[in-house]
Amino acid sequence: MTKELICICCPMGCGLTVEMNGSEVVSVTGNTCKRGDDYARQELTAPMRTVTTTVRTADGVSIPVKTKEPVPKDRIFDCVKDIKAANVTLPVRVGDVIAANVAGTGIDAVAARSV
Ligand code: SF4
Repeated sequence: MTKELICICCPMGCGLTVEMNGSEVVSVTGNTCKRGDDYARQELTAPMRTVTTTVRTADGVSIPVKTKEPVPKDRIFDCVKDIKAANVTLPVRVGDVIAANVAGTGIDAVAARSV
């Protein structure tokens, strides 16, 4: 089975062709660099995404938040739920942990901007 993907790791957006044998990646072509190969293998076996969202302080101030690292794609909803439930008080500095170990992924969600 062949799958077509666009690499999202840089603005070049290389078109990737991935040969699969069931759920196993056999080969990746079309990538200009190793990152494209890594991306295709990850995307087709265990896709990951950085979560970006916002959380409101008790004063109603909106704080942009993102996960420090990508989390499994199928855990995004749970991560957003944990982040939205965080109790945040001002001031907040960029990089402050807003929710630790979101959805049990081992990844922290941090403030993306100082407020
Ligand atoms: S394969 Fe390499 S050059 Fe092509 S889009 Fe991905 S990161 Fe960029």
